[in-house]
Parts: sequence; C-alpha cells; structure tokens
Amino acid sequence: MLKIAKKYNVSFAPIKLSKNLKKQLPAWCHLGAPPKTYNKQRDTCLQNNHKAQKIKHLIKISKKISPNNNETTNDNKKHYPRRNCACKYCIKDRMKGCENPHKCATIAKEILNKINPKLNTKMKPKKDGLSLTHNRKEKNQQAHERRRGEIIFDPTITT
Ligand SMILES: [Zn+2]
Ligand SMILES: [Zn+2]
Repeated sequence: MLKIAKKYNVSFAPIKLSKNLKKQLPAWCHLGAPPKTYNKQRDTCLQNNHKAQKIKHLIKISKKISPNNNETTNDNKKHYPRRNCACKYCIKDRMKGCENPHKCATIAKEILNKINPKLNTKMKPKKDGLSLTHNRKEKNQQAHERRRGEIIFDPTITT
C-alpha cells in the first residue's frame, strides 16, 4: 500500500486532525514519530502482551504513571514505580504475560511524548476560526433532519 501511494504521489497529510482521529492512528510506524522513537526489542512486550496497536492503547497503558491520575491515588493499592508493583493495572498486565508493567508504561509514555506536536494528542489544535458554532451546528442538524431550511457549509479544516 505504501509503495503504491508513493508511486502515485499520495500521502496522508491532513491539515488538522481531531483528537479522536489522532487516537486512532497506529502506535507503530506512526507518521509523526521522529527517528529512534521505536526499538524493536524494547517494544516487543507492548506489541505482543499488551496488544498495543493504536495511539489510544499507548495512552491507556501509560495512564497509571501519569502524575494526575486520581483514580490510582484514591486506590488503596496505588501504582508504585517499581517492577513488583501490586496495583490493579500492573496485576492485569502481569496476567497478560508482562514481566515489568511499570517499564512498559514508561516506554508507552516515551513514545507518546516523541510524537510531533501536530499529531500529538496532548497538543490542543489551534482554533482556525472557521468552525461553525455549536448553535449553528445544531441548527444544521435540525434542518437536515426536517429536510427543511438552510444548511450552512462548515468550512472547518479539522478532519
Ligand atoms: Zn502498578
Ligand atoms: Zn509489558
């Protein structure tokens, strides 16, 4: 597929992606990943045991080590940055065959941090000033459902 795309000068180059779409991009060979983002040996556990395929999976895996993760701090068994951590997330990971869940969470986070700003889910996209207001969108929706009235074209560049 990639070869054919190259042959016909086609590439995936959206101006602005929604957060939801960014989360659905593949975790591996990500188009916003700079060289040396991945390491075949190091990433094996994430791919085989954690079954990480998309960006959203890496986000989920690395969530327990995020400093503002309230869910685990309220838990009696909160996550500790060590190999034998007994929090529910690490226990789950170990059952999947992971030997060092904290390490894998760290790797997942590292990969996410390397993704360039345009495609990074943490970067809020700049407002293009083109998107329709919430109100206007609702009116469009109503006009569409009733098959009556005008529908205003939405010129947003978010795809
Ligand atoms: Zn843990
Ligand atoms: Zn692992």
